[in-house]
Amino acid sequence: MAERYDLCVIGSGPAGEKGAAQAAYFGKSVCLIERAPRPGGAAVNTGTIPSKTLRETALYLSGLRQRGLYGVDYRIKSDITIGDFMHRERAVVEAAWQQIDANLERHRVTRVQGAARFLDPYTVEVERVQQETRRIQAEVFLLATGSRPSHPPEIPFDGRIVVDSDDALSLTQIPKRLVIIGGGVIGCEYAGIFGALGVRVTLINSRERLLMQLDADLSDALRVELTRRLGVQVILDAGVSGVRVEGDLASVMLADGREITADCVLYCAGREGNSDSLQLENTGVKTNARGFVQVDASYRSTTAHIFAAGDIIGFPALASTAMEQARVAMCHAFDLKYKMQMGAVLPYGVWTVPEIATVGMGEDEARAKGIAVEIGKASFRTNPRGQIIGDTEGFVKLVFKADDKLLIGASVVGDGACELIHIPATAIHFNATLDYFIEAVFNYPTLSDAFKYAAYDGLQRLQRRISRSMEARARSLTPIA
Ligand SMILES: Cc1cc2nc3c(=O)[nH]c(=O)nc-3n(C[C@H](O)[C@H](O)[C@H](O)COP(=O)(O)OP(=O)(O)OC[C@H]3O[C@@H](n4cnc5c(N)ncnc54)[C@H](O)[C@@H]3O)c2cc1C
Repeated sequence: MAERYDLCVIGSGPAGEKGAAQAAYFGKSVCLIERAPRPGGAAVNTGTIPSKTLRETALYLSGLRQRGLYGVDYRIKSDITIGDFMHRERAVVEAAWQQIDANLERHRVTRVQGAARFLDPYTVEVERVQQETRRIQAEVFLLATGSRPSHPPEIPFDGRIVVDSDDALSLTQIPKRLVIIGGGVIGCEYAGIFGALGVRVTLINSRERLLMQLDADLSDALRVELTRRLGVQVILDAGVSGVRVEGDLASVMLADGREITADCVLYCAGREGNSDSLQLENTGVKTNARGFVQVDASYRSTTAHIFAAGDIIGFPALASTAMEQARVAMCHAFDLKYKMQMGAVLPYGVWTVPEIATVGMGEDEARAKGIAVEIGKASFRTNPRGQIIGDTEGFVKLVFKADDKLLIGASVVGDGACELIHIPATAIHFNATLDYFIEAVFNYPTLSDAFKYAAYDGLQRLQRRISRSMEARARSLTPIA
């Protein structure tokens, strides 16, 4: 006999948890199926929270933030072990598990442990370890099964010497030399973490810049900091022709003939959707070549009662957006008339060393689209708070329209970037112009105050632009004698 619910959610990552809670909050009976022993998905178990905790741990144990500030070496331990490194991560992950358990319990969500697959569009079978299978039927389904690291066949993954970002958390020792393949978010974040610990890191990217989605000045700032401050060797525009493991060492061969040897190779170039195990062929739900489920603006799949949210639908594949997508999906599924769309202004945070965050349109993108924009920049070097905490390389940047000073984008590099970015994000949401920052009062001394100086810089650049165009106009009107 099948059990029946209003909603069946598959996956307990950020999308699954928040989607389940949203529907339950409005009185729906909800069943949540998770194949892993603990909830939280990649966000809690292999991705967001572990990597951010490890970053804090690496910065603390290595004393990187305070190095040079007080004339003493702030390195907490000279020989950091994997135990030191992982200790805090375990505690934070435990706390996250408890919080998710409590949230699902509070909302009276029924939980089933096991791997779900569809028998027909309204029935899933849950395969459970050493227990009978269970059948669940529901009016509505939410697919929230996330994604996994891509494993190209030419890379000899062994979980020990050649690893992906999931395996990186179960390394038994900190490598002395590490090669990271992939200059996207995950590769750059791990380069900072291991670089801070003193590991000799080589970061290889096939593109000509790190984090290609950012403005060039931001990705250059990242490359310079990784190289200068952490000693990371950054190799750009380089194809990897193969990876070979011999004994306890791995060699990465580059297309130009170079070979780099290391104790560990971390491959983090690409992810694919966890849809193959769901037997979606029994439902009419369509996926693309990388396993991502196709959805419309309300996160409805090609089968009307089956919704999908989070990494399983692909870009932007963030915990932050996964939660909101799932809540919106459930509001559409049950016509809750509560949260029918996700905010259009999406902040984007990268916990590299230094931290980077952006919102709205970048300068490069705006210029490529032919939008007449001007920018304003302010360095943390000239900001008293930046001097106090020793972050003198950071900066804020505002991108605004040259004709009416409307703010259309912003970015921050440096300490607290991922928090600070919410200030311009809010300003963009409310259609603020540069004048908002000129008039606003910020606590002093704070990094936030740098936005005001970026606005002043923007006004000066604008003035120079106007002066230049007036001079050019005057020249063109001057009669030739
Ligand atoms: C190293 C790393 C760092 C990251 N850092 C950030 C960050 O700083 N900020 C940010 O916003 N995002 C970050 N992300 C991305 C973030 O982790 C994901 O976007 C987020 O976890 C996606 O949530 P989800 O609910 O869609 O899927 P997931 O969190 O992947 O959860 C999916 C769940 O579904 C379960 N499942 C799969 N198939 C089945 C099945 N057949 N039956 C039952 N259960 C199943 C899985 O076991 C899993 O628990 C990071 C990711 C990585 C890998």
